Amino acid sequence: MQKCPRCGAISYAKELEKNLKVCKSCSYHFSLSAPERIAVTVDEGRFFEYDADLKSLDPLEFPDYKSKLKKDMEKTGLKEAVVTGEGTIGGFPAVIGVMDSRFRMGSMGSVVGEKIARAVEQAATKRYPLILFSASGGARMQEGVLSLMQMAKTSAALERLHRERVLFVSVLTNPTTGGVSASFSSLGDINIAEPGALIGFAGRRVIEQTVRQKLPDDFQTAEFLLKHGQLDMVVPRTELRQTLIKILELHANGGNDDGKRPSAL
Ligand SMILES: [Zn+2]
Repeated sequence: MQKCPRCGAISYAKELEKNLKVCKSCSYHFSLSAPERIAVTVDEGRFFEYDADLKSLDPLEFPDYKSKLKKDMEKTGLKEAVVTGEGTIGGFPAVIGVMDSRFRMGSMGSVVGEKIARAVEQAATKRYPLILFSASGGARMQEGVLSLMQMAKTSAALERLHRERVLFVSVLTNPTTGGVSASFSSLGDINIAEPGALIGFAGRRVIEQTVRQKLPDDFQTAEFLLKHGQLDMVVPRTELRQTLIKILELHANGGNDDGKRPSAL
């Protein structure tokens, strides 16, 4: 049994899973792990993972970092906070990256940045559309400036992908904050978010203290950002796969590789 944190409705775990972990009473979106997200996104759950063995080091010898990494690996069965690879969605091949907020709050250390940059490069080489699902607390404080550098690295890799005219769809899930919101997750050709997702750079209190103003209640929600032009769509999880298929289909038929109009036109 699982209790909805928003409306308090109690549902069977199995039923909740069948509904993609969306509350049937109030549509609250429970968070999905990376393996769960992949399973409900790619065709028949078939996924070929990239760089599965890439593991974080402890370059700054930050107290307890190694033991925290080890604990998160045991808890999640993952080596890092992002899983990247390729699969098909509705028959369309795509390079896919999924962050997992259970691992160090989905923070972006060197390995997360590196895996995302490599996935972007794979998408550029194979000319497969790239789809990244973000869920992140921001920078990985235990990696200091090395963590911040990942913002530049992933953004630069995406700029090259953009010049190659390969589609990038960013899917922002709850929460997408800090350095991830300020880098790759906001750089999609199409930026989609799940309903109710918290998306923003700094936290509400920090901003309120800085600007000395009270912020609206829905500030930093997906719906607020959609209203203010920072997102293209807010799509319920139960419609997300179909939406992605539609986008991939439009893209496959619309533009050919060199970005020119199809010769038939
Ligand atoms: Zn609910």
